[in-house]
Amino acid sequence: MYRIRLFAVRHSRAFEWLYARLETTMVALDPLFARVGYGRIERPIAAVERVTKGLLFDCKMCGQCVLSSTGMSCPMNCPKQLRNGPCGGVRPGGYCEVKPQMRCVWVLAWDGAARMKEGSKIRDVQPPVDRSLEGSSSWLRVSREKAARLREAREASRTTIAKAFPDARAHEPAVAPLAPEPPAANQAGSKR
Ligand code: SF4
Repeated sequence: MYRIRLFAVRHSRAFEWLYARLETTMVALDPLFARVGYGRIERPIAAVERVTKGLLFDCKMCGQCVLSSTGMSCPMNCPKQLRNGPCGGVRPGGYCEVKPQMRCVWVLAWDGAARMKEGSKIRDVQPPVDRSLEGSSSWLRVSREKAARLREAREASRTTIAKAFPDARAHEPAVAPLAPEPPAANQAGSKR
């Protein structure tokens, strides 16, 4: 497992690409997931995530994955579970103070991040681990949150257009003289 972990760091750029594709796919599947029920798919997806990431990254299923910010080196493999850089005890050669046979996960993280397109994310400060999320699927949570943000952005842009419609017609009747006003625009207009 440790050797595969090192392999993942050496190929962090490829994993970054794969992760981006996975996220896009899962965000696109949001309507389906919502119909089936996020609660119902949580367990099977978490099981797949546990096996896949366990094999590749020695994942501990903390539920708040930061691999894309840590060069594909999982910080939960640090014996002190430090999420924002190494402790002061890194041994010569970049080995761990607690487990001298293992390279410091943060030395690996910097190495992996240097190969990644968005490697500068390693400088982002990570919040403390929320233990209540342990065991849950990070993939599902992140993609669900992103899908919700995209939905909100789409809704906001639709509302902006609907709100602008009555004004546009009032100021420039030639632009939309016959077009029926959308119901949402009527409501928005009547609130003014
Ligand atoms: S950061 Fe958390 S979810 Fe990501 S690989 Fe490590 S233990 Fe797993």
